[in-house]
Amino acid sequence: MSNGYGIHMRGGVITERNPDFCTVRVRIPAGNLTIEQMRGLATIAKTHGPGFVHITTRQTIELPHLNPSDLPRIARKLAKNGTPLGSERDEVVNVIACPGTERCKYANIDTIGLAKKIDERLFGREMPVKMRIAISGCPNACTSPMLNEIGIMGRIQPLRIPGQCTGCGTCAKYCRENAIVVKNGVSVLDPVKCIQCGICIQSCPFGLLQSKFRHYLIMVGGRRGRHPRIGRTVMMVEDEEQVVAVVERIIQWVYRRAWSGRLLSEQLDDLHFDEFRKEIAAEISGSTGMQTLG
Ligand code: SF4
Ligand code: SF4
Ligand code: SF4
Repeated sequence: MSNGYGIHMRGGVITERNPDFCTVRVRIPAGNLTIEQMRGLATIAKTHGPGFVHITTRQTIELPHLNPSDLPRIARKLAKNGTPLGSERDEVVNVIACPGTERCKYANIDTIGLAKKIDERLFGREMPVKMRIAISGCPNACTSPMLNEIGIMGRIQPLRIPGQCTGCGTCAKYCRENAIVVKNGVSVLDPVKCIQCGICIQSCPFGLLQSKFRHYLIMVGGRRGRHPRIGRTVMMVEDEEQVVAVVERIIQWVYRRAWSGRLLSEQLDDLHFDEFRKEIAAEISGSTGMQTLG
């Protein structure tokens, strides 16, 4: 009979402070679970553990205080429940996302659908460094995408229909960045102050503000922890398939070039990030016509 050693070596199984026990972390892209899956997890936690679960900061659930010899059975039950073993090693870990257009009134993109697509293609891929991916539907950045190895943020550039404006100032009142002023009876946007949240578009009572460019901003090399770093911008793309293609390309680049034992954020210059950024812009814009940051 298996003693669970093989499974114990996989990501998703964490040895506890008392090494006679382990915790299992579950794979839950975007943190979305059905009620049946929650019941299933509760049953597994109660059968094999002390009867509680832990909700992590990365939208997964952990089942604590498990007997390592139960791991093969637990792994089978988790897979049957549609919540298989997760990850925590140097690999692509649970992809997190805010509610996005599924529920949030500020969202510019379908974050949950995107998280599931990225999860399907890349979850658990072995890497020289841990790769955390976070997606936010707007610059409010509720999942802190800029503090992850790969961050994705939905944005939208507002554009007033030329020649049309009542000068009512509603959009200026809604803009928290003070990026809009009413001058000579019309609204004027300051593109430097604008963070492309899109709130003004929804605020105009006459529907005179429209989207010029709804897009996904992709960042790389952010991190939380002891020495937080803001990720650097890779590019902006206009649709979900392009995002997945860019994320896959970043993963390949990191897999081939990065060193283990150092955080990705500390290696970006050594990995010649600026050259990579130009390469990926040329590669992907050549085939898809996507726009990039200047
Ligand atoms: S990041 Fe934006 S879209 Fe996502 S939950 Fe927060 S406010 Fe809503
Ligand atoms: S998109 Fe956001 S930041 Fe930009 S002008 Fe509109 S409300 Fe202000
Ligand atoms: S809310 Fe609409 S009409 Fe009013 S100032 Fe802004 S763009 Fe013009």
